[in-house]
Order: sequence, then structure tokens, then C-alpha cells
Amino acid sequence: MGVVISKPDKELWPDDGDGGAVTKLDLARYLEAVGEWMIVHLKGRPCSLIRAPDGIKGECFFQRHAMQGTSNLLELARVSGDRKPYLQIDRIEGLAAVAQIGGVELHPWNCAPYAYDTPGRLVFDLDPAPDVDFPDVVEAAKEMRQRLADIGMDSFCKTTGGKGLHVVVPLLHGARDKVSWKEAKAFAQGVCQWMADDDPERYLLNMSKKLRRGKIFLDYLRNDRMSTAVAPLSPRARAGATVSMPVTWAQVKSDLDPKRYTLRTVPALLARSKAWEGYEDAAVSIKAAIKKLAGKVK
Ligand code: ATP
Ligand code: MN
Repeated sequence: MGVVISKPDKELWPDDGDGGAVTKLDLARYLEAVGEWMIVHLKGRPCSLIRAPDGIKGECFFQRHAMQGTSNLLELARVSGDRKPYLQIDRIEGLAAVAQIGGVELHPWNCAPYAYDTPGRLVFDLDPAPDVDFPDVVEAAKEMRQRLADIGMDSFCKTTGGKGLHVVVPLLHGARDKVSWKEAKAFAQGVCQWMADDDPERYLLNMSKKLRRGKIFLDYLRNDRMSTAVAPLSPRARAGATVSMPVTWAQVKSDLDPKRYTLRTVPALLARSKAWEGYEDAAVSIKAAIKKLAGKVK
């Protein structure tokens, strides 16, 4: 894509006995391969990076702002309330520029494209306590999907490349349908509360680690103006070079194994996947859902 990758052999993920180390060039090639799929979910939104210039075992840092020397393939987002511009990735070539600076994770805002103050999607982050088995997280995601469907919302699931799952809801964001972040966050909280109230043994909304034992934390806090969630197809700075993989609901069953989805395996798997098909067309008005939720929890 015309981006020079310096130190292409730099090992970003160590060799864990799973097919050799993943180098900076591997990362660039990976982002090139999945870029077309990924960019739709990044475009027009400020995007933080986790950078690991010396590899994930070295010093990593979370970068929100553009810095001196930022590639001209990356956009600068002017955001009200902050004098310093944020990073934004609007084109596929920008992903190669991300690889070049050792950007191993991409974390966009959840706003509508080019409309930073307008919610464009909701992300429900299901965070299991360490002693929860993954099939229980799978059940939680399916239950979340069912509840969202009950209030008229279509949702999409992805692995995080880590311990949990994300359930993502595309929103209409035109003049008639848009809401403020305050309303969107309150709604997301309401959905999580509705689920936790019906099953307090399995779910909770409180972040407290102590209360969490055996339970799944329903994190609605991704749904705010400056909050981020890891992008679909973003690699993770974690062992095995796992990726946040979009999956079909049919794949969300007890044998779902997030570790299968890695920087090595995902390009081929994605090529024949139907995950997130119809994402754009599935967007609904959050206003209607807010009314329906009010009817459910009364
Ligand atoms: P997991 O399934 O393992 O929980 P996750 O991506 O959901 O994976 P969390 O620890 O739950 O990880 O983090 C939720 C979100 O918080 C991340 O997706 C990210 O966008 C944001 N985040 C992570 N690190 C930072 C950071 N250093 N500063 C600000 N936000 C962060
Ligand atoms: Mn999480």
C-alpha cells in the first residue's frame, strides 16, 4: 500500500510455540488483508491505539492523540473539549501506517461516522470473572441478543481476543433517530440492569472485583462519547496474537473458542465468513427501543 515498514522483522508477538513469532511486516500484511472489512467500522471516528514498538512484552502505551511526525495517511480529528487532535483512520493505507508505528490494537469511538457527538453503535461488553467458564459467557451473549430483539434491536457478536464477548448494536443516526450520548448510555445501562435484575446470580453491573466472583460483569460504559471498544478484527497485545473476531450468531455456541482467531488464521476464515452480513441495514432507531424498554421494566 506504499508504506515503508522499517524493521520489518521486528518481533511484535513472541514465538509461543504456535508457528513462530509475528513480525511487524506480518502485522502490516494482516491489516492489509482485513482492511477493507475493518475500515467501515473505523472511518470517521477518533481511534486510540495500543502501541508496542518493542513488541507486546516490551513497553506498551495507549495513544489517543496525534503526535509530531504522524503519518499523513492518518487523519487528525478535532474534538470539542480537547485542543490536541485525536488520531483517526479513514483509509486502508492508514492501517499500514498504524503497523509501521507498532500499533497493535485499534480502539475507535462508537460515534456515528464524522459525527462525534452522536451515538452510532452500542457495545455491550460482557466481562466474566476469572472463575466463569466461557460457555456461560456465550449464554450471556445469546440472552443479551434475545433481550435486544425483544425491544426491536438487531445485534452482532464478536470475540474480544480476550476473555469476554462484545455484543454490538448498529444505530440509525439521522436527524429523526439520533439521541445524545447521555440518553444512549442510560439506555445501555437500562438493558444491562433489566438482564441483571432477572438473574442477579449470574450478572452484575458493578465493577467491584470482589462482588464479581462467579459472575459476568455487564459493562455498559463503552457507550459514551469518549469511550472506546476494541475494533472488530483488531489484533490484541496478548499471547497468541488473538484478534477480536466478528462471528455469526450460529457460531456463538458452547464450543466457540476465541483463541482460534489469530492474526495468522483470521484472513482465511474471514474470506469465507458471513459474520456481520447486513450490519448496515440492521440499524434501528434507539428512540423506539427506549420506549419499548420502558414498557418491559415497569
Ligand atoms: P476482554 O474480553 O478480555 O474483557 P476487552 O477488549 O473487552 O477484552 P476490557 O479490559 O474489558 O477489554 O476493556 C474494555 C475497553 O476499555 C477496551 O476495549 C478499550 O477500548 C478500553 N481500554 C483498554 N485499555 C485502555 C486504556 N489504557 N485506556 C483507556 N481505555 C482503555
Ligand atoms: Mn471486556
